[in-house]
Amino acid sequence: MLKALLFVCVGAAVAAAWYATLPARAQDLPPAPAGLTQPVRGAIHVHSTRSDGTADVEAIAAAAARAGLQFVIITDHGDGLREPDPPRYLDGVLCIDAVEISTENGHVVALGLPESPYPLGGEGRDVLEDIARLGGFAIAAHPESAKTELRWTAWDLPLGGLEWLNADSEWRDESGWSLARALFTYPGRGTETLASLLDRPASALERWDNLTRSRRVVGLAGSDAHARIGLRSVGEPYDNNASSLHFPSYEQVFRLFSNALPGTTLTGNAEADSTAVITAIRAGHVYSTIDALAGPAAMSFSATSGSGMASFGDVLPLSGPVTLRIQVQAPPDAAVAVLKDGDVMEMRSGPQVELAAPEAPGVFRVEISLPGAPGQPAIPWMVSNPIYVGRDAAEPPTPARPRATTFAVLYKDGPVQGWVVEKSDAALGAIDVVKALPGTQISLRYGLGGAASASPYVAFVMPAGPDLQKFSQLTFIGRADKPTRLSVQLRDPIGSQGERWHRSVYLEPEPREVTVYFDDMTPRGATSRPQPDLATAQAILFVVETVNTPLGGNGTIWIDEIRYGR
Ligand SMILES: [Zn+2]
Ligand SMILES: [Zn+2]
Repeated sequence: MLKALLFVCVGAAVAAAWYATLPARAQDLPPAPAGLTQPVRGAIHVHSTRSDGTADVEAIAAAAARAGLQFVIITDHGDGLREPDPPRYLDGVLCIDAVEISTENGHVVALGLPESPYPLGGEGRDVLEDIARLGGFAIAAHPESAKTELRWTAWDLPLGGLEWLNADSEWRDESGWSLARALFTYPGRGTETLASLLDRPASALERWDNLTRSRRVVGLAGSDAHARIGLRSVGEPYDNNASSLHFPSYEQVFRLFSNALPGTTLTGNAEADSTAVITAIRAGHVYSTIDALAGPAAMSFSATSGSGMASFGDVLPLSGPVTLRIQVQAPPDAAVAVLKDGDVMEMRSGPQVELAAPEAPGVFRVEISLPGAPGQPAIPWMVSNPIYVGRDAAEPPTPARPRATTFAVLYKDGPVQGWVVEKSDAALGAIDVVKALPGTQISLRYGLGGAASASPYVAFVMPAGPDLQKFSQLTFIGRADKPTRLSVQLRDPIGSQGERWHRSVYLEPEPREVTVYFDDMTPRGATSRPQPDLATAQAILFVVETVNTPLGGNGTIWIDEIRYGR
């Protein structure tokens, strides 16, 4: 009897201690005041069993419905070859299919991307060029991942957006102790436990603020939900054979934070609603909320100058004094920080904030914080996209390099001299001279046979000639029987295999002039120097490789009017 009583007492004490360690419950907010509409909410960057997630789309939609979301964007790892599933409503949740593409510069999430004519991959600059040509929207995924190989590294490229917050990165930077504590409290208060692992991602926010000084870049909160934590896997995609815990669940991640679209109305028509959601995201008409701290959260943010008015993500031309207005559904002790060009300009509180801003160009965004929020530094509760005051609505064009004025012709008409085909064992390649209007051109036929493990390739090799070092670029007229990426390479006969540098170019059935700048080439494999030495390079290679050509694919490329220029 005494033993039983002791057992109950100890049990109760343990339970009380456990209960005391649970993180604070999310605050329930009253309905939003008049004039403030509840936004459409959703999760972006979600993996299903199609890649390294642990649930199918139906189960993910059900989890999103339980979490109160209206849309979810599934982004399984891929190369763009799979035609995206049409958008559909499941459990009342709009499910939009998208893709996460691995590049040499990190992972990029592409929204609104149709089926690609060839596998997307290789250098980040080429993948972004392809995504843009195909009409997609590119978001740098987990830009500050603790895993350096996953981090985005090409910040000078024209990205459409970045993840200012990535849940997967947030778990990965935690110590073993805090993860163990999280596993302990998770069964009691899952969503709040996940929130306790969040910190303000200062470097990602700083990165975003630096980028928006020169171009519009949309900030998003990426769930990166897989519903697993790999114990032995080292990166993402997760190794499906590695032991992994199905933690945290999709539902808990969906309850943790969301992306809110304040100006979007869903109609029930999946096709039209998917277009509306993606259009809103592309335009930056979005803010993020950490729903595990308090909810349902809602805010509006607008700026006026003269008769002009703008909201989240928009450009506001300067035409008089600038006034910023923020309305928020928030606990009374919430702090409203207005940032200008990445620095806090004013701290306010209250549900309505109105303030004058300098009548000068500036990028303004809002961070709203709650006292006692978790993190070192504390995670902000709401983060708006910026309003770009005094900014040209057109994005700055990529500066064009001056055209060459002096040329040396390597091929115009007639037979080719010294060209050879180099290829992997099971691949095929042939060089022919064919009639063109006028004269002739070079036809390069390829068949990329062989197993993926053999990394099939076909290279058409042209002697570089003695004058290469007098020039800065290679120019040619190129076309292909279908959209194709071609790797143009310079080879220096260093070592047994030689060293190579390259620039990938895009070809299509319509002939186009292509220019490759030698100082724009990057190493292929290990090289002893970052750029080729034009004095010793001996060959120009036109290479078809598996990075951007489907295995077993074949086709023809035509090249004409090959010239060096400077
Ligand atoms: Zn990733
Ligand atoms: Zn991912």
